[in-house]
Amino acid sequence: MCVLAIYPGSFDPITLGHLDVIERGCRLFDQVVVAVLRNPNKKPLFTVAERLEQIRISTLHLSNIEVDSFDGLTVNYARMRQAKILLRGLRVLSDFELELQMAHTNKTLSDQVETVFLATSTEYGFISSSLVKEIARFGGTVDHLVPSHVALDIYRCYAKIQPVSALIADSPGQDPTVTDRIGETPPDHET
Ligand code: ADP
Repeated sequence: MCVLAIYPGSFDPITLGHLDVIERGCRLFDQVVVAVLRNPNKKPLFTVAERLEQIRISTLHLSNIEVDSFDGLTVNYARMRQAKILLRGLRVLSDFELELQMAHTNKTLSDQVETVFLATSTEYGFISSSLVKEIARFGGTVDHLVPSHVALDIYRCYAKIQPVSALIADSPGQDPTVTDRIGETPPDHET
């Protein structure tokens, strides 16, 4: 029997912590599907298409992997893919509370799907996509936190954003829709 595991998440962007979970998942299961959630409630830094491409490039060395996107309930996606495993990563205690609640909720929606947690490798325990974006937003280096091509994407993205926001800060009364998009609130709301 081929054991298929779904690794769902935002991956905005994929980090070395995510990649570590993916690589270990690929050793445990026959096939791993990294599934990017199309979440209308979040304002991501990268589009779903960009995130899919970042994950594809980061996982070229793995043969038993697929990269996909989905919307709606994760259990419905798992059912559609005939997957019995949801793979999730655990970093700190605060992850545990949310992840356990999600696993219990998913169990009430489908008793066919088991959530399997992988504890983070110690060196990646502090990494999150939000942290990466926060560092890059203020001009810091993220090469040690994400794959190198993703770091370049991030630098390019903030290089595009920052000169414009600096311009707006200097010129009050500019188009507010532009300010909303690139102003004080970073385009990220995840943990
Ligand atoms: P979500 O919005 O669903 O939390 P994320 O992309 O933030 O999506 O995370 C997807 C999964 O990867 C979650 O289970 C999260 O706990 C896990 N994860 C994120 N960063 C790490 C890391 N550094 N080490 C291990 N697991 C991680």
